[in-house]
Amino acid sequence: MGFRHIVPVDDDELDASSLNRVAGVDYKDAQNNVYKVGAIANRLRGINPKCEAEAYRISVHSTAAEIALAQANWILAGTDSHSSRFRVQQYAFKYFAPFIAAGVNISVEGDIITVVSGEAIAVRMGGAYCLSCLNRVNYTAFHIKSPNVHFEKSQNI
Ligand SMILES: [Zn+2]
Repeated sequence: MGFRHIVPVDDDELDASSLNRVAGVDYKDAQNNVYKVGAIANRLRGINPKCEAEAYRISVHSTAAEIALAQANWILAGTDSHSSRFRVQQYAFKYFAPFIAAGVNISVEGDIITVVSGEAIAVRMGGAYCLSCLNRVNYTAFHIKSPNVHFEKSQNI
């Protein structure tokens, strides 16, 4: 019962700023700059030794990521960039996989935490909304931060 075959996809390394957003990792992982997907896969196996966690240390924009995610029954997007969330949404709609976009925000001014918030959005084909409808994708931001990432405008989402 439950999700036993889990395929984390990400090419980013942990650092101290990741610790508040990546469950199950610790300070030592951040000091060693381990890959997020490796740390997450190890954590999942620690929770349930029967869990098949198959980590892909690659960009979500790669063809290999698309192939891996095309086989998913569900997709969970927990990335922290607009371009990666949009890409995952494209895969979800292309391969008819329902997905959940989840994230947290912790804003700090000086030494004071000013905002702590989070959200989880479940999106499925035929549903009433997607990340674009909900203005959860800032197209200007991802073109500025990821100038080499290009998207087809023909996606009907
Ligand atoms: Zn939409």
